[in-house]
Amino acid sequence: MVNSKIDVIVVGGGCAGISASIVLARAGKKVLLVERGDFSGSKNVFGGTIYARQTAEIFPKFWETAPVEREIKEHKFFLLSENNSFEASYKEDKETEHNCYTVNRAKWDRWACEKAQKEGVLFAPKTLVKALVKQNNKVIGIETEYEKYYADIVILADGVNSLLAKSIGLREEIKPSDVALSVKEVIKLPRNVIEERFHLENSFGTACRIISGPLKNMFAMGFMYTNLDSISIGFGVSVKDLKNRDKKPYEILEELKAHPTIAPYIKGGELVEYNAHLIPEGGFKAIPKLYSDGVMIVGDAAMFVNSLHFEGTNLAMLSGKLAAETAIGAIDKKDFSALCLSEYERKIKSSIVYKDLKTYSKPMKIAEKNLEFLLTYAPYKICKFFEIFTTADNRPKRNKYRKFIKDAIRERGVFGLIKAMWCLFRMGIGIIK
Ligand SMILES: Cc1cc2nc3c(=O)[nH]c(=O)nc-3n(C[C@H](O)[C@H](O)[C@H](O)COP(=O)(O)OP(=O)(O)OC[C@H]3O[C@@H](n4cnc5c(N)ncnc54)[C@H](O)[C@@H]3O)c2cc1C
Repeated sequence: MVNSKIDVIVVGGGCAGISASIVLARAGKKVLLVERGDFSGSKNVFGGTIYARQTAEIFPKFWETAPVEREIKEHKFFLLSENNSFEASYKEDKETEHNCYTVNRAKWDRWACEKAQKEGVLFAPKTLVKALVKQNNKVIGIETEYEKYYADIVILADGVNSLLAKSIGLREEIKPSDVALSVKEVIKLPRNVIEERFHLENSFGTACRIISGPLKNMFAMGFMYTNLDSISIGFGVSVKDLKNRDKKPYEILEELKAHPTIAPYIKGGELVEYNAHLIPEGGFKAIPKLYSDGVMIVGDAAMFVNSLHFEGTNLAMLSGKLAAETAIGAIDKKDFSALCLSEYERKIKSSIVYKDLKTYSKPMKIAEKNLEFLLTYAPYKICKFFEIFTTADNRPKRNKYRKFIKDAIRERGVFGLIKAMWCLFRMGIGIIK
């Protein structure tokens, strides 16, 4: 690794770090990207999709050369009860602009990092940053196991735990309610079997969100994604809720995989990967201070994840880009003070990162308070309604509907049902207001 002074050191070679580095290199700045893994992506756990429009701002037309798996053209939503399910599906027009792709992050990050190196980024893999070097309260570099390296600005893209941001007081210890544990398996299946089961043409794919069933009574959501010749399946659950459960995450995942609606999709597949990772899900209220003298934080380190929409990579790339643009301005002015870097916060505040997280701030608070209704009672009741609607027997339909309503009143009380409707109304208003 070169031990001369560089303009910017970026810690962490994930989506945020690579994006920040490449934008800096394109502007002719000397940038060092430091990653603890053997290569970018080697430490990454990911279940899902990257978003084409924001990704293309960094890697134009990436789908032509990048190692993407499938272009997602169908989004399925499963509400599970014990053994039944209600399913809704949204299909995108195949001719429309690219929206999202499933990727394998080990392959994607490696490709993106190689691209960054071709554009001039100095890359240091297998290098764990142990501490930040400070002088008069300003961050002036990093300390690895072997050496210290100096730069005018350090960008922290070291992911959800960001020990480095904590070490300089930019972040506090993450609260269990602000973080989800995600467990995921990759199940290998022949390509044609996946295409048959999900009714896919060519290399198009499906993304599924799963609510309730084995995930009932938790702030949790499941997912299932089609890759070219494998399926990623898993769920994310609030660490706070997990602490109160007697079941281990992998036991819950086994139950999800065995659910009669899910099992046929993965039947006969070979488990090739199992992993677990934290996802920052505190949303708007958990966004920390984003800068200090000589330093900025981006991506998961800055808690930029929109958990309801499964968006993290796009917010990571965008925040990396905005931090890099701020750094370019600061280098040109030769001003690395907190005041100058506060421009990054201004950019974030006028971007989709901040606006979207703010949009969900109130609705998510309401949702947390009405969790059992939203993620357990309502899905079970919807399944029950469709069971009544579709079942032909000798009982009059009117009696069945009456019983359905009577049961709901008995279970929740009139006031409870009105309260639940009011909660949905307030969530809706909270989003559009
Ligand atoms: C199971 C799962 C499913 C997900 N699904 C989706 C999805 O469908 N769509 C989506 O957009 N997002 C999804 N996300 C979220 C998404 O993965 C993250 O938001 C995104 O990866 C954040 O990028 P990042 O660069 O900030 O952090 P990371 O990708 O975590 O990268 C951080 C990097 O920093 C390195 N690092 C850490 N500490 C140090 C150190 N001290 N020194 C050197 N290097 C260090 C790590 O090795 C890592 O490479 C999912 C996450 C999980 C866990």
